[in-house]
This record gives sequence, C-alpha cells and structure tokens, in this order.
Amino acid sequence: MKSRLGKVKTVIRRYRRASQMAVLSLLILSPFVNLFRFDLPSMSLYLFGVRLWTKHVVVFFLLLVTVIYFIIAASLLFGRVFCGWVCPQNLFNEVTREWDRRFGRAGSILVSLLVGLFGGFVVWSYFSDGTVLLRQYLSGQVPVGPTAFIAAAGLFFTLAMAWWRTAICRVACPYGHLQSIITNAETMHLQVFNMPGTRDICATCGLCAEICHMGVDPRTPEQKNCVVCGDCLDACALVSQARGVPRVLNFTIGAGERAVALRERGRLLQNVRHLAPRLVLPLLLTTVLSGVSGYLLANRPLVDLVVAKDHRHVLAAGGPVSSGGVMAVSLINLADRADHFRLLVEGLPEGWAALERTTVDLGPGERALVRLRVNPTERQVGIHRFTVRVVGEQSGAEASFETVHVVY
Ligand code: SF4
Ligand code: SF4
Repeated sequence: MKSRLGKVKTVIRRYRRASQMAVLSLLILSPFVNLFRFDLPSMSLYLFGVRLWTKHVVVFFLLLVTVIYFIIAASLLFGRVFCGWVCPQNLFNEVTREWDRRFGRAGSILVSLLVGLFGGFVVWSYFSDGTVLLRQYLSGQVPVGPTAFIAAAGLFFTLAMAWWRTAICRVACPYGHLQSIITNAETMHLQVFNMPGTRDICATCGLCAEICHMGVDPRTPEQKNCVVCGDCLDACALVSQARGVPRVLNFTIGAGERAVALRERGRLLQNVRHLAPRLVLPLLLTTVLSGVSGYLLANRPLVDLVVAKDHRHVLAAGGPVSSGGVMAVSLINLADRADHFRLLVEGLPEGWAALERTTVDLGPGERALVRLRVNPTERQVGIHRFTVRVVGEQSGAEASFETVHVVY
C-alpha cells in the first residue's frame, strides 16, 4: 500500500502549496513593508502602509470585524478551508514530514530550529522595527529583551514543527475548534457516492484515509479535523482510475440528496444554484464592511485638536473670570510624517485672543499644548462663540474646534 501511496498524483496539493506559500511570503514581508504591524514603541499601527494612532481605532476595529466575519462565513460554507489553504502551521505539518525523510530526525529538528528562530524574528518585527534590530545584530550588539523574545518564540515554533505538528490543529488551536463548532450539515464535506445500479462504488481500499495527514477517514461523517486539503480525492482518483470508474469520493455541498459533486463539470450550474443564496449575504456584507473601512481609512483625521479651559490658571486666578481666561489648545499630529502647523483663532473681537505661539512643529504622533489667553479689551457681557483652527502645511491636515468665552 505504501508504494501505491507514493503513486498518488497530488494535483490539488500543487494549488494548495501555491496558496500557502503566497500567504507565508505575505506574512514574512508584512512587517517589513508596513502592510500590517503594531509599533509598540510609538503605540501606533501600520495598515496597508498607513500609520494609525489610537484616535483611528475605529478603522482597525471595523477591518477586524470584516476579517472575522469573512473567515467565519467561509468556514460555515466550506469548513476548515482556512487551515488547509492559508494557515502556515498546516504547511509546516506537511513539509516537516518531508524534512524527516530527507534530512533524518536530527537534521529535521535542526532545520525546524533555524526556521523557528527566523519565525521568532519575524513575529518580533510585528511589534517593533525589525530592520533596526537586524542592524544591531550586524554591528555586534545583542539586545537582551528582543533576543529573549526571539529565543522563546523560536523554541515554541520548533516544538510545533518538530513534535506537536497536527496536535496543534486538532487540540490546541482555538480557531480550529471554533470552525468545528460553527460548521453544520450544510457545510461542504466529503462524501462517497455509491451510485445504485452502477459500478461506481467504494472499493474500501482505505487509501483516502491513509493519505490524510489530519487522521480523518473521509468515508465517515467524523470530519471535524478535515482541512479541505484534497489529498484524499487524489488518492481516490488513483484507485478509481485503475478500476475504470469515475472517482467515488467527492466534496459535496448541502445535506442528503441535495449533495452535489463539485468536480462534475456538467453540474457546475447546479453547484452555483446551491451556493448562490448562501454566498450572497456574506459577500454583500464583506463588501459593505470593507468599503466602509476603506472610506474611513482614506478619510481619517490627520490632526487632532481639542480646546479646553485651563483650570490650573482659572484656579490660580481665584475662580471663573469675566475679564479674561486661559484655555489649553491640545493638538496631536496623526499623520505618518512631521508637519508644520499654523494655529488661528476666529470669531472673537479684534485683540481679544492671544495664542502663546501660532506655529508648532510636530513629528508623527507628537502632541503639543499651546496656551490661549482670552482678554476682552472691553466688557461685553454675554457668550462669545469662537473657533480655533489648525492647518498642517505638509499634509494639508485641517481641524477646527468651536468653543465659547463667557463674560459675566
Ligand atoms: S479528509 Fe481528505 S481533504 Fe480532509 S484533511 Fe484528510 S485528506 Fe485532506
Ligand atoms: S473512497 Fe476511494 S480511496 Fe477511499 S476507500 Fe473508497 S475507493 Fe478507496
């Protein structure tokens, strides 16, 4: 049987490897091109090359909701497809078995350790600038904190690659368990078609179960650990071909007699009819959510401006004043580059407003506090509305804050 296993043409695996490798490359590159990265030293988040600050948390939250929704909808429809086609752990579950064969057990552990340490460095780069750390290493410095983190993460990855392997996916992974919980009878699953009156029946050869790296027997309904890799389909194709019958094992959508064989070209339209009503809502919601997130990302505020009564000065002056008041103008540069900001006060009578300074230079994420003194030159009792405006010369960022000055 072992030699027959070696003869299986793993056609689907080729497409899956392409998908897994593309995702892995993206995950490795992401922190270095700021596709997605938390920068803990500056408490900011990079998303698609754009730097976001705490003030922009709603954009990140909405995008997170979109991704979670998309993943859950995909799992509900297609099972653990994310595990088999996207997650790097599953890629390593399979390639490390190949390393065992090729390099022997000791060699495989050593390769896992090297890959694990590199993985630790990439993970660390998600939280701080990895290129800075790399330059430190190259100049002979070994910073203790990052090095300890990389060593711990590298050890974890080595254990996962060389020993734990699929146990991570079957036992420890919360996302794997979540998918097992949310799938139902309508979720895509594997089914053997024993067509009555034809020779298309299962040969009970067991090759499909033998090839499965997740320990699933696809002929049984116990498929919660199936990661939709498709290896068993290729195994069954080999057996069925030898018997001169169409492949009897297939992915199917829907329960019972509504099951449709995905591979049958003649039934493509039927597949689409089955899928369409179930796909419309998830696709529509994902499109709307990602559209709103994209709009918020493109139109995010680039400067934050707040004007408040400077209570320290009020208290020092012995309480509310009618003839003058001090306000604190707080501004934060929310762009990802330095800027020269101009401050203006509009709406107060001539000579009433005196800004401590009218221009401020701020780096990305930096904050400044400018004192605004309102000194009425004549006693005009009433509520005086005015606006403080800020304009960034480099980014064109603009913000305004409306407030009042009361003269009793
Ligand atoms: S049952 Fe088939 S598709 Fe599912 S994980 Fe095993 S080999 Fe892959
Ligand atoms: S489903 Fe296919 S591979 Fe599995 S036992 Fe039946 S004939 Fe063999």
